[in-house]
Amino acid sequence: MTADPVERIALVTGGSRGIGRAMSLALAESGHKVAVNYASNGAAAEEVVASITDGGGEAIALQADVRDAGAVDEMFSTIEAKLGSPLILVNNAGVTRDNLLLRMSPDAFDEVIETNLRSVFLCTKLAMRAMLRARWGRIISIASVAGIVGNAGQSNYAASKAGIIGFTKSISKEVGSRGITANVVAPGFISTDMTRDLPEDAKKAAIESVSLGRFGEPHEVAAMVTFLASEAASYVTGQVISVDGGLTL
Ligand code: NAP
Repeated sequence: MTADPVERIALVTGGSRGIGRAMSLALAESGHKVAVNYASNGAAAEEVVASITDGGGEAIALQADVRDAGAVDEMFSTIEAKLGSPLILVNNAGVTRDNLLLRMSPDAFDEVIETNLRSVFLCTKLAMRAMLRARWGRIISIASVAGIVGNAGQSNYAASKAGIIGFTKSISKEVGSRGITANVVAPGFISTDMTRDLPEDAKKAAIESVSLGRFGEPHEVAAMVTFLASEAASYVTGQVISVDGGLTL
């Protein structure tokens, strides 16, 4: 990945593991300073920061539960004090609490909506002021193909991801005239902790429905995100881009 001409500050929520980790590394490789957010896995976040700084980049790790407005507020203040205002926001933190609807508890519904969707609202709102001042911004939110085509056993998760899509399209219309783009990346099956524990028969069935015949790797999602974060993506906004190996064809 070649460096972007302008060095900026990027915040990646849930940057400690999986797709978030790959995006943090790729954005650093593109020449940006990276704020790596995590919920509880401080060691993993520090490892991402060390990989970036060892390669000559700049990064910090920040613990904050992205469901919590006060914690998100504090996280932004810390980033601004230590790095500056993030003009690249990657809303990536996410969880699953899968179950069939009749067995799904209200808590499992709320936890997924709050982690995956409320967090996007909280972080985007806080990032927006500096982007408006700079008349430049990139908001990239990680949804899922489940938010486009649905998935049995994931009604909470699919609702949260479909919510991200509606939210993104709306804000792209609100702030497009100010040089700020907002896009969604919708991964299919990607090899991370989130998909590690899928039963073998479910993994086999999943692979059979992917045109490319395999799970994707986190860096393959990160490549799309670094493009959307770049100057080169200046005329792309309000879009939902699937990175799914042809799963949803
Ligand atoms: P993962 O490996 O399970 O990592 C999840 C990340 O989110 C971790 O960094 C975790 O932090 C963070 N996180 C979770 N809850 C949080 C909270 N309340 N506050 C702050 N951070 C929180 O997941 P992944 O597979 O990389 O998924 C990343 C994103 O891609 C998610 O939005 C997911 O829905 C989406 N996605 C994944 C797939 C897939 O196949 N893997 C497919 C489609 C979409 P800790 O390390 O501290 O726990």
